[in-house]
Amino acid sequence: MTRITVAKGDGIGPEIMDATLNILFAAGAQIEIDEIEVGAKVYLSGNSSGISLTSWETIRKNKVFLKAPITTPQGGGYKSLNVSTRKFLGLYANVRPCKSLYPFVSTKHPVMDMVIVRENEEDLYAGIEHQQTDEVVQCLKLISRPGCEKIIRYAFEYAKDQNRKKVSCFTKDNIMKQTDGLFHQIFDEIAKEYPEIENEHWIVDIGAAKMADTPEDFDVIVMPNLYGDVLSDVAAQITGSVGLAGSANIGEECSMFEAIHGSAPTISGKNVANPSGLIQGAILMLNHIGQIKIAEKVQNAWLKTIEEGIHTNDIFKEGTSKQKVGTKEFAQAVISNLGKTPSLFKPVIYKNQSQLKLPKYVRKPAANKKLVGVDVFVHWNGSDPNELAEKVMLVENKNNIKLNIITNRGIKVWPDGFKETFCTDHWRCRFKKSDSTEITKANIITLLQQCMIENIDTIKTENLYSFDGKAGYSLGQGQ
Ligand code: NAD
Repeated sequence: MTRITVAKGDGIGPEIMDATLNILFAAGAQIEIDEIEVGAKVYLSGNSSGISLTSWETIRKNKVFLKAPITTPQGGGYKSLNVSTRKFLGLYANVRPCKSLYPFVSTKHPVMDMVIVRENEEDLYAGIEHQQTDEVVQCLKLISRPGCEKIIRYAFEYAKDQNRKKVSCFTKDNIMKQTDGLFHQIFDEIAKEYPEIENEHWIVDIGAAKMADTPEDFDVIVMPNLYGDVLSDVAAQITGSVGLAGSANIGEECSMFEAIHGSAPTISGKNVANPSGLIQGAILMLNHIGQIKIAEKVQNAWLKTIEEGIHTNDIFKEGTSKQKVGTKEFAQAVISNLGKTPSLFKPVIYKNQSQLKLPKYVRKPAANKKLVGVDVFVHWNGSDPNELAEKVMLVENKNNIKLNIITNRGIKVWPDGFKETFCTDHWRCRFKKSDSTEITKANIITLLQQCMIENIDTIKTENLYSFDGKAGYSLGQGQ
């Protein structure tokens, strides 16, 4: 018997959770349930995290969490509980299988069978955002070596375990050379450890286009958080409906299982939602906790129901489907099929899945890190960069630190900028020694003091380091 935590969530959450639990219990799942309240009600009671401390205790004690979708109220002040659960519990791997159910569910992609492995803890989802000037806000994109190593190794180990042949990586490292560049570099490093598995890298835009056009060419795709979030919805939708896919969020100690879709408020309370995404999440959970035979029983009954043309509204198609049913009736049909196997789909047989055990991350020896300059970001309402350069050059100090370049939204505007370049009130002034040798933190403090004296509104600084002689920062665009 495994004790799990269950949250019924918001919108269609309670309907699809009840349907899923009814199927699990009818199939004989050896689970006991602790139910917790999360989401809208908790947010609106004044708790901006959407969850109470005692609910956290339950989740941490049971370690396995089956969660229905929740609504994050729009606007400032509310933090997404989905994102914080993944991060608090260290659920670094988000695994989203997307397989088409042709010919029973209408799709343009009959032979699609791919798994998206999405990084779950970092990237733009660090949620570190600031307004810096009247016109400009920023969001920090954080990519770490341990984050990349863990997710990429997980993707290869998963491929090996599941007998999959290829791992593809999507990034935008032609533009984000430091952040996505690190993800790609670590993908290449780790791929070498798995010579039996094919590997490839795609720039995310064309990779996404290829994935949407010929998904049958892909097997496992590993991606940073944001691309994985967007593209796993695309992948699920092109199998027939976003309502069909489940996901596993896996960490070293805890795990969370859910549908990939949201709380679909427009169809909630109408008994029309497709519970399949959460059923698939629950099947991933049963496999994870070692109840393989029950997982097989539920999956085969579900496949049989789909094959019989018993479909919810989202996948119902005249001619292909036989009977349009509601959420409850769909669950009932799956329950009636427990113990049966599909006739046209291949019945599933799950192997005794050992939970993937990855080696602990080992920190590399520290590099030789040198401070070689500083980017000082300035709020300035002028329009001519030459005027700003003159002002800023007044603060070049006697330590031979010189203004090297000014950029606006990343593009060089001084020296030799183009008058056509549109500029906001957010300017980056890069200072370095003219011979690019080391500077000191004291130099930066002096520089900032001088900016204050000259009435230059500095909004933040970013130190420029070299690591083992290699620049740890990108050039200005056009530099
Ligand atoms: P959504 O996934 O809820 O809905 C998108 C579309 O898909 C809608 O047309 C909806 O009716 C349809 N759909 C979704 N699930 C379906 C199902 N099971 N059966 C039939 N049709 C289904 O996305 P959204 O409208 O952008 O988000 C609604 C809310 O859900 C937001 O508050 C968002 O923050 C939240 N959300 C939660 C999660 C989660 O809890 N993991 C994930 C995504 C979005």
